[in-house]
Amino acid sequence: MTDPKEREIYFELKVGPEIKKLREYLEKGNTFIAYLLGKKNSGKGTYSKMFAEIVDLERVDHFSIGDMIREVDGELRDKERKKELSSFLERNYRGWLPFKEVISALEKRDTGTLLPTELVLSLVKREISKRKKKALFIDGFPRGLDQISYSLFFRDLIGYRDDPDIFILIDVPEAVIDERIKWRRVCPLCQTSRNLKLLPTSKVNYDETKKEFYLLCDNPDCKGAKLLSKEGDELGIKPIRERLKQDEELIERALSLYGIPKIFLRNSIPVKEVERFIDDYEITPEYIYEWDEKAKSVKIIEKPWQVVDDEGKPSYSLLPPPVVVSLIKQMTEVLSL
Ligand SMILES: [Zn+2]
Repeated sequence: MTDPKEREIYFELKVGPEIKKLREYLEKGNTFIAYLLGKKNSGKGTYSKMFAEIVDLERVDHFSIGDMIREVDGELRDKERKKELSSFLERNYRGWLPFKEVISALEKRDTGTLLPTELVLSLVKREISKRKKKALFIDGFPRGLDQISYSLFFRDLIGYRDDPDIFILIDVPEAVIDERIKWRRVCPLCQTSRNLKLLPTSKVNYDETKKEFYLLCDNPDCKGAKLLSKEGDELGIKPIRERLKQDEELIERALSLYGIPKIFLRNSIPVKEVERFIDDYEITPEYIYEWDEKAKSVKIIEKPWQVVDDEGKPSYSLLPPPVVVSLIKQMTEVLSL
């Protein structure tokens, strides 16, 4: 499932006709806007990028509010680009801040404070206008409860054609998010992010003095650099608990909305239901390592990764492809294809 060619075959077998319908829909110039709602680290980017990769890389795009804000930070440091951004906001920003405070709100922003919703709306509008004629997945908006109402009428507010908008609600157990953070390892050179327990590189090594296993980067340019964990990652979800609670509240509110089509994605499936719905290779494996003292080599053991979901049921976590299969199926239904 990690090999792109094999993945293509898998998708063809599972949702071949649906993919064809979606491609035809997009080729005719139709689009959609899908708002991704899921907890932080729930895989929103992974699912929408894989959808694009499988369906139509040219006509489907994804952007996250986090990346958008980071991009804006870069623009503010560049004189020419800052002028461009200012003139866009001067024409498009509507809200309670005097115009000169709009720019300083962006410049003085620290990562903990949320930007005023009206400002986020202007910036999202700008991102959408950069991607004309593309179907879009938006990650990170709506963020607060007040933004839900805006998103419901956003399409109308910005005159974004007449194409459908959809809410995508992603359910991921917190135990999964926790382990994703705890075992995350990043290459200091190329920034590739992997996971010691769930997504190793092809080379695993053992440090005999520290008595710990570590990953080496696969990227030939990095010449076997050691992947490192970021400070604080060992705490898992502890530092973001408040944020996760807010995200959960947002998803719950969105669940009870009428009038807007919804797609439901779940990352985990209770062990008891697995045989009926899931093939073994669709389950996320976990990797366990043993050090062979004599041979001086690492032995890798792979087995299905079991977690306890938020209701306390022992569950398996699904790999991204089966979740994207479900996304493709539901998308064709929602679009009545
Ligand atoms: Zn690297």
